[in-house]
Formats: sequence, C-alpha cells, structure tokens
Amino acid sequence: MRLSDLRPGDEAKIVKILGHGAFRKRLMEMGFVGGQTVKVMLHAPLHDPVKYQIMGYEVSLRRSESSLIEVLPLQHIVSGDSPHTATACENKHAQADKAVAEKKADNSDFDKSRRTINVALIGNPNCGKTSLFNIASGAHEHVGNYSGVTVDAKAGTFHHKGYKFNIIDLPGTYSLDSYSPEELYVRRYLRDSTPDVIINVVVASNLERNLYLTTELIDMNRPMVIALNMYDELENSGDNFDYEYLAAMIGVPIVPTVGRTGRGIERLFDTVIDVYEDRAAAVRHIHVNLGNTIEPAVSQLNDALKADGSVDPRFSPRYLAIKLLEHDSEAEDIISQSVTDDTLNSLLDKRDELVAQIEHNTNEDITSAIAAEKYGFIAGALTETFTKGNINQVQRTAIIDSLVTSPLFGFPIFFAIMVFIFWATFAIGAYPMEWIETAVEWIGHIVESVLPDGPLKDLICDGIIGGVGGVIVFLPNILILYFCISFMEDSGYMARAAFIMDRMMHKVGLHGKSFIPLLMGFGCSVPAIMATRAIESRSSRLITILITPFMSCSARLPIYILLVGTFFSAHAALVISALYLLGVLAAVLTARLLRRFWFKTDVVPFVMELPPYRLPTFKASLRHMWSKGEQYLRKMGGLILVASVIVWALNYFPLRDDDDVAPAMNQTTAAAGDDSAINMSSDSYLEMIGKFVNPVMEPLGMKWRATVAAIAGIPAKEIVVSTLGVLYTGNESSDVKTLSSRITAPNPVTGQPDFSAASALAFLVFVLLFCPCIATLTAIWRETGSWRYPLFSAVYSTTIAWIISFITFRIALLF
Ligand code: GDP
Ligand code: MG
Repeated sequence: MRLSDLRPGDEAKIVKILGHGAFRKRLMEMGFVGGQTVKVMLHAPLHDPVKYQIMGYEVSLRRSESSLIEVLPLQHIVSGDSPHTATACENKHAQADKAVAEKKADNSDFDKSRRTINVALIGNPNCGKTSLFNIASGAHEHVGNYSGVTVDAKAGTFHHKGYKFNIIDLPGTYSLDSYSPEELYVRRYLRDSTPDVIINVVVASNLERNLYLTTELIDMNRPMVIALNMYDELENSGDNFDYEYLAAMIGVPIVPTVGRTGRGIERLFDTVIDVYEDRAAAVRHIHVNLGNTIEPAVSQLNDALKADGSVDPRFSPRYLAIKLLEHDSEAEDIISQSVTDDTLNSLLDKRDELVAQIEHNTNEDITSAIAAEKYGFIAGALTETFTKGNINQVQRTAIIDSLVTSPLFGFPIFFAIMVFIFWATFAIGAYPMEWIETAVEWIGHIVESVLPDGPLKDLICDGIIGGVGGVIVFLPNILILYFCISFMEDSGYMARAAFIMDRMMHKVGLHGKSFIPLLMGFGCSVPAIMATRAIESRSSRLITILITPFMSCSARLPIYILLVGTFFSAHAALVISALYLLGVLAAVLTARLLRRFWFKTDVVPFVMELPPYRLPTFKASLRHMWSKGEQYLRKMGGLILVASVIVWALNYFPLRDDDDVAPAMNQTTAAAGDDSAINMSSDSYLEMIGKFVNPVMEPLGMKWRATVAAIAGIPAKEIVVSTLGVLYTGNESSDVKTLSSRITAPNPVTGQPDFSAASALAFLVFVLLFCPCIATLTAIWRETGSWRYPLFSAVYSTTIAWIISFITFRIALLF
C-alpha cells in the first residue's frame, strides 16, 4: 500500500521509498525512513498536498510524492474490518489498540514487506536477461540467440538470504528512446512500476554499445546493479577488463555473471540486497558528463525543473532535462502532467532556444550530439579499464559467417540444414513413435479385455484411446522438431538465416526480420506471431502475422505422418517436403497480394544484428524442447481429450435400437451404390453434420468422415487425427489396430476405402491451408488489436484451402 492511499487519522509504518535517488535522499532526510511510523494529519481542500506527522514533526507531501512511499497501515493489522477515524483514535480504547498495533507491525507483516525486493532486468536484446531470469527464478522462459525473443515482461519470484525477490524480465532495448515497442514498454514499466533495484545486464564482450543504455539509466538515478554477463566470453577472449575500477568510476556496483551456468548469480543478488539496504560501498550518483556545449543547457533545464519542484518524483530532473533536449515526447508528457501550462511553455521555449544554440555550435542535430557525448564518456571510461586481448570468438564468428552468409554457400547450407531437420523429425522420430504406438495398442487390448461390453468400454476404447492415442504417438516427432528449432535459435544461426533471406524477403515486400517468425511458425504459430513484435514497420508486421499460419505448424505434422505414411510411404519425405513448400508458397503469394492491395506502404530500412555464434547448452535446448512437449501433453489431456470424447459421443449417438439393423440397412444402401442416400434414421449426429457439410467438400474427394475431421481441426489441428482415430475404429473381426490400417480398410457401406491416394493428397493440402486454429486466431486478434485480421485470416485461408485442394485433387486424379 502507498502512503497516498491512507486517510486522515490513519497511521502506517514506512516500508520503502521509491523514485529517483535525489528524491529518496531528500525524503529520508525528512525522516521518511523504513520502520518509522507516519500519521496522516489532514488533507488540503483538493487532497493535495497532505500533511503528515513523522518523528514528531509535521511535513506536507504532494500526492505524487506520497504515492512513492510504500507503507504498511497499522490499523489494518489489528482489525481489518473497521477503519479508524481521527475521533476514534482519541479514546482510551483506541490507544490500547494502537499499542497492540505497533507491536504487531514490528513483526511478520512489516518484515515481509520490508524484505520484498522488486527487481527489473534491463539490457540490450540478446544480452542474457532471460537466461539470468530463468536461473534466478527457476522459470523456463524461452531463451534465444537473436533479438526480440522476450516481447513481454515475464515475472518470477524466488527467495535468497531471507529476502523475497519479485523479478521481471523486460524486453531487450538499446536505449530509452520511445521508438520501438520494446523501448516504449521498458519506459512505461520504469514509469509505472518503479522497481526497487534495476539489474542492468551488460554483455562483457560488447561493452561499448551495451553501456549506452547504462548511461541513460544512470541519468535516471535509480538504484542499480550491473550484471556483467557472458563473463566467460570475456575471459576466453583474453581481454582485460578492470570492472571494479569502472564500477567505482560510474558509481554502480558491477558483478560478473554467466547466464548460462549461473556463475555469479548469488553474488549478483547479494549486491542487489546491499543496494536495496543502502549499504553498497560502490554506490554513488554521478553525472554522465555531456561536455561543454550540452552540459550547460542540461543544467539550465535541470535547475528550472528543480525550481518548479512539482515535477514527477519518479524521474530525476536531470534525466527529464536531457530527454527534453532530445525532444522526447514522453518526457514532455510527464512534465506537462505536473507543472502548470505556463511553466511548461516557458520550459519548452527555453528548450528550443538551447537546442538551436547547441545545434548551431556543434553542427549536428541534438540527438546525435548527445549520443556522441555519451559514447565519448563510454570510450573514455573503457580506455582506462579495458585492454583488448587477442582473437578468438570474433574470429570464429567471422569465419563461420563468411561461409554461412556467403552468396555461394549460404542457401545450400540453409536448405541442407532444413532438409536435415525434416529428415531427423521423421526418420529418427519413427523409432520412438513405433514404441508408443505399440504401447497404445497394448493398452487398448488390455482395456478391451478387462471391461464388459457397453458404452463405457466403447467410450474408453474408441473415444479416449482411439482419439488421444492417435495423437500421442507423434510426441517424439514434435520434440525433435522443437529441439532443432531451439538449437538454431540459441546458436545464432536463426539470425543468419534471416540475414541471407533478406533479399528474398524483400521480393515479397518484407524483410529478413520477418523470416524468424515464419521459421518459428513451423513449430507453432502462436509464439511465432508474438515474435513479430520485433518488426518495426507496422505493415510488415501485419503481413507477417497474416502469413505465418501458412507455415505448417507441428500440430499438422501428425496428419501428414499418418496419411503420407499410409498412402505415399515410398515417397514420404518428398510428399511432406512438398506440403511444407506449398505452405511457404501460399505464404509468399499472400504476402505479395497483401502488399499489393492492402498494405501499400514501403518497407523501412533496418539493422539486422548478427550475434556471435554460441554453442547452445544441451540443457537449454532440452529444456526448451521439454517445455513444448509438456504443452503438447497438456493439450492432449485437455482439449484433445474433450474433443475426442465429444466426437466419439456425436458419432455414437443416437444409439441404434438393434445392432443388426444398421448393417442390414447399410447393405441395401450399398446396393443402391450411394453413400449419402443412407436412411437418415441410422445416422449418428456426427454423420448428419458431416453429410450436411459434405456437398461443399465432395469436389475435393472428401467423404463425410474426412469433412468432419477437417472441421474438428478448428479448435486445434491435432484434433484432426484424433477425430479420424475415433471415426475409424475398425471392425471387430480384424484386430488390426493401427490407425493407418483402419483408414485404408474398406468402408462397409461403399465397399471401398474412404480415401484414395488422390483424395488423401487433397485432404492433406486442405488441412495444411485451412483456417488457423483458435489459439492462432486469438493470437492474431491480440497482436493486431482488431478482430478484422483474424476474421480475414479464417475466411481467406479457408477459401485458398478449398481452391488449391480442388486443383490438387483434379490433377492427382489424372495419375
Ligand atoms: P535476452 O535476449 O537478453 O533475454 O538473452 P537470452 O537469455 O535469450 O540469451 C541470449 C543468448 O546468450 C542465448 O543463446 C544464451 O544461451 C546466451 N547466453 C546467455 N548468458 C550467457 C553467458 O553468460 N555466457 C555465454 N557464453 N552465453 C550466454
Ligand atoms: Mg529474453
């Protein structure tokens, strides 16, 4: 609770003071120290300022100031139900209450709040924030060796040395400008959530650029610790870095860490505690000197802001002054919210005058002039503390890159890697798949022999084992695919793939950055669509979002393996590759159409980072893989189980009165030679639905079961297979139990199998391109902020699916 939330007469114990350094210092000097009791005396007419009593003195604070003081109300501890009023406090009873309250406040509750530290991880993209976050909090967030992996803040909690840490992993950002969504996000966070301590993660092997952000954080004057991450690389490079000296120079403690192994994490958080408790020796507030031309301008604005005194205490006046000079609109916003219009106008006039002067003197625009000074500051600090060693990683990366991104070998290497991934997914995956298949079969047999005949047995055997069992066998394939994708991400190859694809992507009106989400789409569209946040241009981002679902996701894989394995086993790899390629083509085509007719704006130029290659830890890749596997299993136990049971029930009911009647009737209709003319009374609900929709799908060679399965794929694509599993339960006479053999068995009605090679192919094409699953549509809606896009995606992809599937079927029939 914040001091500003209390009412007159309320008393509270101070837990901590937030805000920038000078503000905290001033408040502490006034007596607002952790553990002190403060009492609300009275509100001014407009509730601002408020008078408080502390250490026997009366002081008044603005609302904006008291909202940065975290307190624990005393009354709250004693009696949660009736809030005290000023008059109630006067009688004896209340006095006694107060005594009790004070005692209680001394113990657990207060201690708990006091010993909770909110920590935010801030640093450049790809500096290892998420790795540190995962190690510290024991979470399993996605780590990736390219920028833009963490697009949201992730929160975690853990305990260390008697303190509770709430730790936030923020998106990577190079600076605190308000250009990219990440920068805005981080700034909003710093504005609204005021963490107790900031951990600025800095890459040891790339100090110059990383420290730029540090200079901005220093301007902010918030409690901070630097994690000098990837310290292992620094050690291996032979570079010499006196980080302790740098820490002393900039007044921020620096702790070397290795995010991959967890080295130094303990010391890092020890230091965070020291900073929080104000006992870290290295802490000192410095000014990043901006030189003779700019510095005077900063001080003028700084003084003006300080003189006004009403400026938002979350930000140091110096920081706001610098941002004001940079024409930063958010800073103007913050200032305008606290000062009067007159003051604001005079500030802005002053700013314009100063900026004009500086630009005239430096012959540079103000932003570059400030950046140049900051880089000068960094360069100066580094010449004193850093000596370059020799060779190593940079060279290794350069050698690999000269090959991997070369015009000659780049593409062949890329395609070879892709082919290898698909080969591994199918060929290696086939072995464990067989084991699971056998196990499922075995369980089916046991259940069948144990349970008495009846609906329950049918439900378990056909509904649950048939449905879920049909999908679970593909777990190994999916795990392997994810392992490969995560290896590519972590090693840094993904960024190269994007790089070499840049030219190609430009041809469809996108750029290389769009390639990573698309590649991730082979795993799952949902994270892929979220990863598009790294794309700066909105139109490129929207196009990427809309074409990502065409990248064949892993949930579609079981369908391919099932049908391709059944009908095209001789050319399995070829057919599956062709399907993936078809998805890519559909995406490319769609991108071109969208660029042509919907999003006509041009592509903005961009910088593409090429992070150094790093051998991913086996553990990280395994963990990544497993978290996907877990998701898959969870889906299996939830959505797919429920869907299987529903499909089974719709297929099972209404019950035929007499088991003998149905086959007899089927016989007659079979003689009539028309499947769809079956007497409706013998139809299950599912059959009715399937047959109702089927006329639309008939031209694609699909029978009603296939139609139902395709529709069932809308909640989640895996359900296509589980539905087939439920619908093709096989007949009692044969004990062939694998789904693939059940599908090829002749339909008792028509006497022929439901699928031919041609219709199977058409079906495959249809499910590849058909409407994205609900989760994907939701992700599109969330990321675009409009329901128009998911709606478009659903309608468009279904149309495309039908057309291409139709063409495929007709062509396939010729062979
Ligand atoms: P983020 O973008 O800042 O969240 O960075 P990530 O945590 O995703 O890590 C980026 C890459 O750096 C991953 O490939 C990590 O495995 C790798 N990495 C993280 N910390 C270290 C470290 O201390 N040493 C080395 N050598 N690699 C690291
Ligand atoms: Mg991250």
